[in-house]
Amino acid sequence: MKYFLSLFFCLSFFGSPITAFSTPDSTTVDARAGAAEKLAALVRYETVSATDPAQFKYAEFEKLHAYLAKAFPLVHERLQVEVINSYSLLYTWAGQDKHLKPILFSAHTDVVPVEAASAAAWQEQPFAGKVKEGYVWGRGTMDDKYRVIAMLEAVERLLKQGHEPERTLYLAFGHDEEIGGEEGAGKIAQHLEQQGVQLEAVFDEGLAIAEGVVPGIQEPLALVGTAAKGSLNLLLTVNGGGGHSSAPPAETTIGILSSAIQRLHENPFRPRLTATTRASLEILTERMGGKYRFAMRHYGLFKGRILKKLSEDRATDVLIRTKLVPTVISGGEKSNVLPRQATALLNVRILSGEDEQTVLRHVRQAIQDERVQIERQGEYTPPSPVTATDTWIFVALKATILETFPDVLVVPALFPGGTDAKHYTNLTSNIFRFAPQTVTRESAQLIHNVNERLSVEVLEQSISFYGTLIRNTCGSTALEQLADNDESILGAE
Ligand SMILES: [Zn+2]
Repeated sequence: MKYFLSLFFCLSFFGSPITAFSTPDSTTVDARAGAAEKLAALVRYETVSATDPAQFKYAEFEKLHAYLAKAFPLVHERLQVEVINSYSLLYTWAGQDKHLKPILFSAHTDVVPVEAASAAAWQEQPFAGKVKEGYVWGRGTMDDKYRVIAMLEAVERLLKQGHEPERTLYLAFGHDEEIGGEEGAGKIAQHLEQQGVQLEAVFDEGLAIAEGVVPGIQEPLALVGTAAKGSLNLLLTVNGGGGHSSAPPAETTIGILSSAIQRLHENPFRPRLTATTRASLEILTERMGGKYRFAMRHYGLFKGRILKKLSEDRATDVLIRTKLVPTVISGGEKSNVLPRQATALLNVRILSGEDEQTVLRHVRQAIQDERVQIERQGEYTPPSPVTATDTWIFVALKATILETFPDVLVVPALFPGGTDAKHYTNLTSNIFRFAPQTVTRESAQLIHNVNERLSVEVLEQSISFYGTLIRNTCGSTALEQLADNDESILGAE
């Protein structure tokens, strides 16, 4: 982090690439441990992303790096390993053909904190890293340490099999994704950009395989995020006179702020179908058949009803409009004193086609009160560009998904959150946000929550997924086969 100048910082980020680790000891127990034990071991490092950089336990990240070097000896012997900005990792597996643009696989080693109030609700201690009854338990198992393990394990196995990639690939592990990723993935992207690297594609976390979420569709849906919403925080401030609560004026700072928030609630952003969501719906309604298919095929006629239906469920409502919600509110300290200032922080998730200016205009028009100051706080992330799906790389991804999860329906979709992928938009137009884990409505609730856990079976599938994805996108023979299969794969839609 920029707040902690260290020797590592100077050596790794500004200096020439260094190999971070000495030759690992391949005789350790770690190297022979199964993937589940390796994931459990990673959980034990408390790599929590704190909003306040002083709260980061940086030594935990360093210990995690040292563990990876022991647990994946071949990777650390054969790939170039760079420590970026002290706590993030960039692995380079050089390909034979230097003309091919590299592919970057992105994951993150940090996790969200465990709320003190919820600690007692955990069946297993969140950082104990236990493997029990077919599950690896603990904070970070679903988001996102299993992908770190899956990628490294996949590469370790490919190295063992003597695989040599045709195309260069990177494994990029940021250390602060949960607080925006500026210091991790942001610096990795800068590092690559300074070397003039352009990427063929980025594979990051994002959507996943969803089971039982759409009525009328039996198959699990492999939702591939081909676009992401933008984000922005707005600070509303009302200043006033203060005074004693026994003689309040007709309007107070808290009252004015409350009315503003209420008006925002009553004036949501306009719903509309973006090209991405329209494409997802077309695939889904074709499968659902009946009135759904009919309505979508005649979208012009049924537009109003379709949008109304989608806005009734909050999971689909976020796909059709910019959403705004107050997340932090403050004003007042004492029961008999009128606060001179009241503030509210609004978190805004922006749909493509809108931007900071259109959001500000909407907020001002909705509030219609000059006494409420509106200003941006922190970074603005615009909505992402949309990744095309008529490309060989999407076909390769789709083929890989179907190879690993044969019964799923692959659906490109809008990802309503934000991930480290946003830092790589200058390096490629092919960004895919897809995590190879199957989630149900219930298990999705475990992410960032108590009792987060991942089944050992899902972990094994994800290793197999990344092994296949690397062979299909960075190997030589697989690419030719894929080119031949293009039509049948696309036709399977
Ligand atoms: Zn994550």
